Amino acid sequence: MTDKPIEEPTPQESLDPENWDEFRAQARHMLDAAIDRLQDARQGRVWTELPGEIKETLKAPLPREGWGVPDVMGRMEALLPYGAGNTNPRFFGWVHGSGTPANLLAEIAASAMNANVGGRDHGAIYVEKQVVRWCRELFDFPDTASGIVVSGTSIATIIAVKVARDTRLNFLSRKDGICGHGLVGYTSTETHSCVARAFDLLGLGTDALRKIPANDRFEIDMDALKAAIAADREAGLTPFIVIGTAGTVNVGAIDPLEELADLAAEESMWFHIDGAFGSLGVLSDRVKDRLTGVKRADSLAFDFHKWLHVNYDAGFALIREEKLHRAAFTDRPDYLTAKERGLAGGNPWPVEYGPELSRGFRALKVWAQIAEFGTDRLGRMIERNCYQASYLGEQVEKTPGLELLAPVALNICCFRYTEPGLSDAVLDAMNDEIVIQLQEQGSAAPSTTRLKGRLAIRVNITNHRTARADLDILLEEVQRVAASPEVAAVRDAAIRDAG
Ligand SMILES: *Cc1c(COP(=O)(O)O)cnc(C)c1O
Repeated sequence: MTDKPIEEPTPQESLDPENWDEFRAQARHMLDAAIDRLQDARQGRVWTELPGEIKETLKAPLPREGWGVPDVMGRMEALLPYGAGNTNPRFFGWVHGSGTPANLLAEIAASAMNANVGGRDHGAIYVEKQVVRWCRELFDFPDTASGIVVSGTSIATIIAVKVARDTRLNFLSRKDGICGHGLVGYTSTETHSCVARAFDLLGLGTDALRKIPANDRFEIDMDALKAAIAADREAGLTPFIVIGTAGTVNVGAIDPLEELADLAAEESMWFHIDGAFGSLGVLSDRVKDRLTGVKRADSLAFDFHKWLHVNYDAGFALIREEKLHRAAFTDRPDYLTAKERGLAGGNPWPVEYGPELSRGFRALKVWAQIAEFGTDRLGRMIERNCYQASYLGEQVEKTPGLELLAPVALNICCFRYTEPGLSDAVLDAMNDEIVIQLQEQGSAAPSTTRLKGRLAIRVNITNHRTARADLDILLEEVQRVAASPEVAAVRDAAIRDAG
């Protein structure tokens, strides 16, 4: 020990700007660049690959000396045009929401607060609680229901299946694990892969998820489901969950949710619904009658970032019984003890409803989106997309050389280009190339899937900017590209390969 006083390095330094006026000007510039980008969202190419030179600059070594605001801001601005294209009205790939300029403001406010919404008593917590109440109301869940804002349906599904799993095993599984209980669950072959991932992550194993065949409308076959449950019971296993989908990822099919709810009740099984995008159809008069079973679920996973156009990312796990939800996650060590008063109040904390402790303020952009637009207007966006998909399906059926591959159930239209006398393998290769050409040429961005063994051009419309004219352009482009030398070359190569 010495008597030397402790001395800090000088001068005192922080990460705040040295000149706030300069920072203000820089921030205003970035805000303008962001708004310019959004104002032009309808124009230009849908997707553009990131240029090689920007890819190179993104491989720079770890900076020891910071580059400073102007340099970093310039690089961020340069990145703005190179999104996936989901802000463009002719983005039709996978299931992407199109976002709103309004949400930019919520992101700024949330970033300024820099709230950690794992718990404690502060403003953000009350906003999230309001979002939970609104979600209950939206889906007609009881006052006993709880929920948590998460990154998306994948995580929401893990949370819901964990509550189902632990409920079945009286929460002893949290300590003892699940070995030897023979838990099995049921869903259709059309269900999103996130459900099998949840089974994997929760130690149930993907084999414990029985994939029941779907009918011609891509809905779960109820007879096959009942037979599978009976066979598993016969074998001494423990059926514990049935998972229905409101809006399947391939074609937008809605499982018979009321029948699934009845069956789950008869069999004393948990009823979970993957309603990632389709469950929001409750906001459309055209769709809602097919979703009456949603309110009967024990749990529902859905996204705000798809059909409610909240900027990425935001999803939700809604659980019918708060006490089960909390019992599956609660864990309050000494340093997280609940208090009646002070900053450690505000109980229960979000950390008791999910696996994350530190979590951002996603709830603000969700709250702002719903508050600003209201559910009627958001519902009109959903309904229009459904009409658009029906229109596209109708046009496909009228167009020689195009073939509809699934009935249009909601907002997705799957079709393909065909020529007489060509095998499915050759047509698959051609349609694959057509989609890649459309994406690379920047005119539209559908994606592909396989339906009953055939490759489909898949057009998903979860886009508030899409107009009917965009669908007409898409159809013209598909036909133009189908007749191009590039696609002919792919066809000829595929024929040679087959022969
Ligand atoms: C998108 C989607 C998911 C996965 O949701 P994420 O938000 O991407 O995690 C699950 N199910 C369906 C039906 C989907 O469309």
